[in-house]
Amino acid sequence: MCIFCKIVTGDIPSNKIDENDEFLAFHDINPKAPVHILIIPKQHIENFQSTPPEVMAKMTPFIQEIAKKVGLDQTGYRLIVNNGEDGGQEVMHLHFHMLGGAKLKWPHLAPDTVKKNI
Ligand code: 5GP
Ligand code: ZN
Repeated sequence: MCIFCKIVTGDIPSNKIDENDEFLAFHDINPKAPVHILIIPKQHIENFQSTPPEVMAKMTPFIQEIAKKVGLDQTGYRLIVNNGEDGGQEVMHLHFHMLGGAKLKWPHLAPDTVKKNI
């Protein structure tokens, strides 16, 4: 079982914000912003690229409700999905990072990693 599946079952504790039958939002253990929330489906889905559109149709309003619950709907936030190796995905269970509570810098390109053949 992956670590986020263990968070879903409660085998690994988490600081939960909200949940319903299908989705869960909890605070990131290593926050990169004053507010750093992870939003996941309870069902194990490996990454965004393999996510069925029906899941996103239900996940979108859940994400919006989380933003409202913590007040980021008013101040703004960044939603990030790291997908695969170049995206920097470390946990292979779909998760959206919701970052806020400060002005965020842009962009993120790592130096000397540009793939010139794409
Ligand atoms: P990724 O790099 O896969 O997009 O992001 C994984 C995120 O999961 C990281 O921001 C990391 O801090 C967070 N994380 C990893 N393990 C745990 C954990 O056990 N609990 C919580 N709350 N967050 C975790
Ligand atoms: Zn999982």
